[in-house]
Order: sequence, then C-alpha cells, then structure tokens
Amino acid sequence: MIYGDSRDCGFATCRKLSLAHGHYFGPSRDHHSGIRIVIGDAMAAGEIATGAGQVLLSIRATGGNPEALKAAGDAASQEYISQQLANRYPFDAVLSEEADDDSDRLVNHRVWIIDPLDGTREFSEPPRVDWAVHVALVEGGELVSGSVALPGEGLTFSTADQLPPRGPVPSRPRILVSRTRPTEHALMLADTLRGELVPMGSAGAKTMAVVRGDADIYVHSGGQWEWDSAAPVAIALAAGLHVSRLDGSPVRYNQPNPWLPDILICRSELAQRVIQLCRAAA
Ligand SMILES: [Mg+2]
Repeated sequence: MIYGDSRDCGFATCRKLSLAHGHYFGPSRDHHSGIRIVIGDAMAAGEIATGAGQVLLSIRATGGNPEALKAAGDAASQEYISQQLANRYPFDAVLSEEADDDSDRLVNHRVWIIDPLDGTREFSEPPRVDWAVHVALVEGGELVSGSVALPGEGLTFSTADQLPPRGPVPSRPRILVSRTRPTEHALMLADTLRGELVPMGSAGAKTMAVVRGDADIYVHSGGQWEWDSAAPVAIALAAGLHVSRLDGSPVRYNQPNPWLPDILICRSELAQRVIQLCRAAA
C-alpha cells in the first residue's frame, strides 16, 4: 500500500508508523500547528492520494505524446478519486478541478477539495517529479485533513503523519517560483532578502519543498484555485509552517467563488518580514 521506500527522508517511515497506529481514529487537536487533525479522514486522504498516484504512474509508464498524457492523467485520477470518495464518504460534497462545481458544497458541512493532478505539464514531461495529487477535507469552512502525494518520488504526505523537524533558515532564503513566470513579489523578496530563486512546477511540490526544508518561501500572487493549495496548506499547517494571504490575512476555503488571488507559505521565522515587505509593495 505504502510506497515511499525509494527515498529515505523520514516521511515514509512516519507514514508507516501512522498506519500501524491506525486505531487512533477520531478527532484530536495538535496545539502546536493550528490545524485540527482528524486522523481517520487524514489516513483516508493519504490512501486515496497514494492510490491516485499509482494510477498516474501506470499511465505515465505507457508513454505517448504529452497532450494525450495530460488528458489521460487528469481524467483517470479524477475517476479514481471521485469513486473512492463516493464509496467511503457518500454524503460528503466534492470540489474538484476536473468536475463541474456543485452548489451542494456550500451547504454541506464536509467538503473534499481535490486536484487529481497538480502540475499536469510536468507530469507529461518524464522524468520530472514536480507533480502531485491533492486531497483535502474542509469541515465547516475549516481545513481539517489533507494529503499530497508526490508519486514521481514515491512519497505521500498526510496530516496524519508526524513530520520531521527542519534545519535552521539559511541566511539566503530559497524562494520557490513557477518554471515560466516568477511573480513580481517573488522577485522583490529575492532582491530584498538576498534570496535565491528556485524554479519548480506544481503548487503541491513547491509547498512540500518548504515542508521538507528544501526551500523557505513559497509566495504566489498570480491567482490560484482553492484546489491548488487546499491539501498543500493542510500539510504546511500540520508541519508548523506559516500560511496566509500576502497581507497576512487568513486563507479561506470552500468559498462560493473558489478563486484565491494570492498566498504565502513560508517558514514561520520569516513570516513577519515577508508580510511587511508584501504590504509595502502593494
Ligand atoms: Mg490539476
């Protein structure tokens, strides 16, 4: 079930441990992270994201031209996740990049926010690994569980896992930017903080880079949809990272219009300074 043995970074071990202790179902609160963690749902999210990742890897292995791979990946992962959610949680609502928006999600207490394939372009460019599967759960407007799978790396992150601590923030913070278009905010931060720009695809892969301690700041001001960040943000919060809008206000999910103009995910040590700089630049 769990694949993660290809890389010994600690997360695979954590994941195995959390599954081994699967009898700890039901709600609990992690007072250190600011996210209410519901272990049973978080484990389900991890299993579903991992399973969708396996579907995607098998499609990628068949080869084919990039456009066909993108379409097949989006469709197959959507089909797998929607089936899994329908079987396990028939009464929950779903907001997905790959399905029509159903207004039921605005009245349902439990809403899954999913991106079956985040980083579709990178998925179609083997052997790139910066693509992801996002599965998050919102209850009453609050993110409560989530999982991000990085199938190309054989890794699944879940809010059910204990994430290992990161090292100190380096003197030159590493700032994640999209492969095609560094935003003005990212360029400004790199200049002011004497940071280093790190190009990468997929909001999920970028956020997991901060979670893992491979980068320090992910700032996006070009606009995103809720499914781009819901699951990554759930993991980031569980890992004790800072998450907000660029002006420091909270990020909200399952809104009538699921468009998020901007987002900041970073090491908490840098948050105040980054928000200050972003406010000054506004
Ligand atoms: Mg997608």
